[in-house]
Amino acid sequence: MPPIEEHVKISRERTGKDYRELHEWLDGDPEKKAERHDITKIYEYGEMIEERFGKEGLQEYIQHLHDDVKVKIGKILMDFERAMAEALSYFGIK
Ligand SMILES: [Zn+2]
Repeated sequence: MPPIEEHVKISRERTGKDYRELHEWLDGDPEKKAERHDITKIYEYGEMIEERFGKEGLQEYIQHLHDDVKVKIGKILMDFERAMAEALSYFGIK
């Protein structure tokens, strides 16, 4: 998933603001990172985030999750394709 600096850069390009505190809240604590990326908690966390960062911050929170899913799934697909190519090659299937 993109590092915090990449999320900050994306937010800055999209909104003119870093939202560093928001991205650090999402990614900065390894113990809470998975819980804070749990999409079933968007409503609960979303209310808190909107109070703290406004509607634009709420959108940046959802966009952060979206960007992480896109990168994570992309990596899984690349790993799968590499493993499949290796397996086919191993058995001489072209
Ligand atoms: Zn993240």
